[in-house]
Amino acid sequence: MTSVAADVHAEAKGSLQVKPGPILLMGAPGVGKGTQAKELVAKWGIPQISTGDLLRYNRDHGTPLGLKAKEIMAAGKLVPDELVNAMVAERLKQPDTANGYILDGFPRTLGQAKWLDEHIGAGPDGPGGKGGGGALPVIAVSITVGYNELLRRITGRRTCPACGTIYNIYLQPPKVDEKCDLDGTPLVRRSDDTEEVFRERMRTYESQTAPVVEHYRALGRFEEVDGAQAVSAVAAGVEAAVERLRSSGTKAAGTETKTK
Ligand SMILES: [Zn+2]
Repeated sequence: MTSVAADVHAEAKGSLQVKPGPILLMGAPGVGKGTQAKELVAKWGIPQISTGDLLRYNRDHGTPLGLKAKEIMAAGKLVPDELVNAMVAERLKQPDTANGYILDGFPRTLGQAKWLDEHIGAGPDGPGGKGGGGALPVIAVSITVGYNELLRRITGRRTCPACGTIYNIYLQPPKVDEKCDLDGTPLVRRSDDTEEVFRERMRTYESQTAPVVEHYRALGRFEEVDGAQAVSAVAAGVEAAVERLRSSGTKAAGTETKTK
């Protein structure tokens, strides 16, 4: 795994006045979460940690955890929380997480969220001893876009099969209806860019994330950012949310969770 801890300070170019710490970035498919994650990684010089990447890394490198996951997946089963948690724990030992990290797709369940709070806050080394992120608790920032706007983003998507240019018939339409500006090729729509598929995906997303959102909201560690703005405005919104959440709750992780 990459280790760039020494460069973190030098590379961080952001205007953030606080240490970012562990940030869970949330957002339904189509809100632009991936774009924002990349922006923050570049701006703050902290890594992005996604469970998809961790699974691939462990599998491709044949680590003990990766071999176990491979076995489970080969049997057609879902990789259990404990195994995913163990991969995250390994990743958080890397020095590049010292100032913070962007969590993408993890914690996905309430169990994972509680595990992560404990993991970061507890342990023989005291708060932050095992979880990197400068001994700060996890904060969650959700990028939200209204249903209808999101629907337009997804169902309006068209691609040129010849050159790969992406259009949106509502937001970035081609000059001539359904034809590529560059080569005139008729645009195509992906078969799963339909309202039906979108609605189902949204339902799944909301039911999966609701308990995680409630968990962080109850702890005062959750904020929403309006995702229906320009990319730079959304980035500024995320930054402001992180500043607010960090300056309102500087307690170490684990202290809040023990009061339950
Ligand atoms: Zn084209």
